[in-house]
Amino acid sequence: MKIGFIGLGIMGNFMALNLLKNGVELNVYNRTKEKAKEHIEKGALFLNSPKEIAEKSDIIILMLSNSKAVSSITEGNGGLLNGLHEKKIVINMSTIEPDYSCELHERVKSKSSLFLEAPVIGSKIPAKEASLIILAAGDKEAFDASDKYFNMIGKKIEYLGDVPKASYLKIINNQIMGITMGALAEGFALADKIGLDKNIIYDIVNSGAFANPMFQLKGKNIINNDYETNFPYKHMQKDLGFAVKLSEEFKTFCPLTCTIDNSYILGYKKFKDEDMCAIYKSLS
Ligand code: NAP
Repeated sequence: MKIGFIGLGIMGNFMALNLLKNGVELNVYNRTKEKAKEHIEKGALFLNSPKEIAEKSDIIILMLSNSKAVSSITEGNGGLLNGLHEKKIVINMSTIEPDYSCELHERVKSKSSLFLEAPVIGSKIPAKEASLIILAAGDKEAFDASDKYFNMIGKKIEYLGDVPKASYLKIINNQIMGITMGALAEGFALADKIGLDKNIIYDIVNSGAFANPMFQLKGKNIINNDYETNFPYKHMQKDLGFAVKLSEEFKTFCPLTCTIDNSYILGYKKFKDEDMCAIYKSLS
């Protein structure tokens, strides 16, 4: 079985390396070829277009920033869809709009191939340590064939049924995460103005009932002025935007999601490529 991997960014880089570590025969493609250097050194074959990846692989995994990136990989003469034929499996692990995921499913089906959406929970470190949480939905036959590979990059794999249930779950997860991140950032910003040491807030919050690993990790990063990108600010805003859109579609009241989305939009230009915890700087 040959696996094709497209998108060697923060997450895809380590996911592809973990497949190689497990002896998988890997074809890779990335818009910026230099990012494939280590993969090539470790035995991956770099192919020159997404179309070629589709033609020469049985399972094709996409890990791209957003729907615009996914469509630039899937469409056109050199695009992935143009290289698909019977019974290939396409797995989109990027977080994209649920509607676009459904559209992608239909496009892949029209090429007699199978489709899974499989967004992930967990950032750069879980990607490196192969401990991602993978939410999958789509063709069950594709899931059964791919489960083995998911286990090489993840610690918990959930099959949820039809597309776009995995996208929905991923967006709700990040809606909760974004609001939580905003709560910590806002508390820290107020503490600064009052003249309270952020270390005390950190210690007390992390000793109480709502202590959580994200407060511990991102709280320390903010205190240390460390905004090295694990989960990009721009991707957090993208996902909050999806959550606002879903809330509108399903007519739910989402004041917290709207507010935190707007706060991310406020600092977008300045902080988009930093870590999502730069929301603290945006709110300060
Ligand atoms: P990233 O570092 O920004 O990487 C994005 C990838 O997409 C790169 O390979 C990039 O290619 C490619 N790309 C972007 N625009 C493109 C275009 N127009 N045409 C072709 N390729 C394009 O993103 P990431 O952090 O790995 O995240 C990938 C996905 O996983 C996103 O949907 C994100 O929301 C989701 N996610 C991320 C995290 C995280 O903590 N980072 C966690 C969970 C889920 P180049 O290398 O050429 O730029």
